[in-house]
Amino acid sequence: MRTILHSDLNNFYASVECVYEPSLRAVPMAVCGDPAVRHGIVLAKNMLAKRAGVQTGEAVWQAVRKCPNLKIIPPDYPKYLRFARMMKAICAEYTDAVESFGLDECWMDVTGHERGGEAIAGELRRRAREELGLTVSVGVSYNKIFAKLGSDMKKPDATTVITPENYRDRVWPLPAGDLLYVGPSTRRRLAARNIRTIGDIARSPRELLRTALGKSGEMLWVFANGLDQSPVLREGEGEAIKSVGNSTTTARDIVDDAGAHRVLMALADSVAERLRAQGLQGRTVCVSVRDCALYTTSVRHRLDHATALASEICTCAMALFRAHYRWERPVRSLGVSVSALESLEGDVQLSLFADARDRRYDLENAVGDIRRRFGHDALRRASLLGGGEIHFLKEN
Ligand SMILES: [Mg+2]
Repeated sequence: MRTILHSDLNNFYASVECVYEPSLRAVPMAVCGDPAVRHGIVLAKNMLAKRAGVQTGEAVWQAVRKCPNLKIIPPDYPKYLRFARMMKAICAEYTDAVESFGLDECWMDVTGHERGGEAIAGELRRRAREELGLTVSVGVSYNKIFAKLGSDMKKPDATTVITPENYRDRVWPLPAGDLLYVGPSTRRRLAARNIRTIGDIARSPRELLRTALGKSGEMLWVFANGLDQSPVLREGEGEAIKSVGNSTTTARDIVDDAGAHRVLMALADSVAERLRAQGLQGRTVCVSVRDCALYTTSVRHRLDHATALASEICTCAMALFRAHYRWERPVRSLGVSVSALESLEGDVQLSLFADARDRRYDLENAVGDIRRRFGHDALRRASLLGGGEIHFLKEN
């Protein structure tokens, strides 16, 4: 049996700010995206703000209404990156199998380590406290899914052990939405079949979940029963990717530039997020258009610098679309991809003279981080609101 740890730094952005400025511990405080730039939302909060009811992902004005003396701090991504790397270096002392999930979380495979999973968890917690001034919650289990659930169950500064003996008691009563990859829409579809807890998923017939949700339904059944076998990936494992793209068909045909812009923005958003999640940026932006007669064209443009910014990808995609699409017919489907990929590492993030572009990265990174944990619906661009749902068909 494997021993997998999942470590999760508590209230990460807010805790890092408190390390730099300890007086912030004494007041309710939240790290928030700039209200002037569309994303006026809470990215992280400290314990006092939490007690006042402030929630991650809510609008700043809502948070302030609950907590009028809330101290608002803008995100400082390079700072968070520095602490994330220090934590990862600590983890890497115990095993070379350390797989990051967002900035503040990672899995470790410590199977066969002489000290045992629970002891290592205790040591990670102590070292995070003493060496970084942060607290971390650790889940210890025999698969990645339960280890991640464990790190969520008790915090801050706690260890939760989930074994083949206790998982029915500890995991099964939890809401289905706590399971990794169960976002709001999956949760709704499960609830429609009266599947509300992780135990409900586990006890449902596997075929029923496949019928209801396809392959991912089956995957959830495997997860809920503790049967996940997926390995903790080492740095640089996984296939080399040539391009990152996304395409979509909207419920109604797109009939004008404004409609196209709305969809291209959503696509650019998701492509940029996936690029950054994989530590990549790219130079070539490609737009593909399929009209309602099912004619497909695609055009591409090479930028003078590589990017993983949704705003830049969208601007380029829209310029391509305007320059090449003549509106002879309404548009059925649009796609955006970025290729000519290179590593994002060490380029923009650590610049001492943060310019506007760096600040956009800070914000998009922070937003992406929240979405990874709370689901894509947690934060939506204002330009997408009110336009109906966009269904992503394909990721490549
Ligand atoms: Mg965390």
